[in-house]
Amino acid sequence: MPCPYCAATATAEQPRRTALGYRTCRCGRCRRIGNERTGTSFNHLQYPTDLVLLVVLWRLRYKLSLRDLAEMFLERGFVFSHEAVRDWEARFVFVKGIVDLTIFW
Ligand SMILES: [Zn+2]
Repeated sequence: MPCPYCAATATAEQPRRTALGYRTCRCGRCRRIGNERTGTSFNHLQYPTDLVLLVVLWRLRYKLSLRDLAEMFLERGFVFSHEAVRDWEARFVFVKGIVDLTIFW
């Protein structure tokens, strides 16, 4: 995994993972520790990337309401508000895979 801070390729994977299970690595050049989401728009999200993108995809594809989505995922054990869905939609609506999937359906 290249360093998200200095783009060096000499990184060493660390045994420790983030709370969400993402791999961490230490850069050989700048000595900073990052994970798979460091430097992306998904950094600091409280939920896994695939879950957030699935929520946005379902919102766009099936035209579900913000509250319906929060309730559907609550039944699956994920607790977030309709405001979180609104925020995720605004931030990730232009992720390439999401746009491609909604255009062709
Ligand atoms: Zn680095």
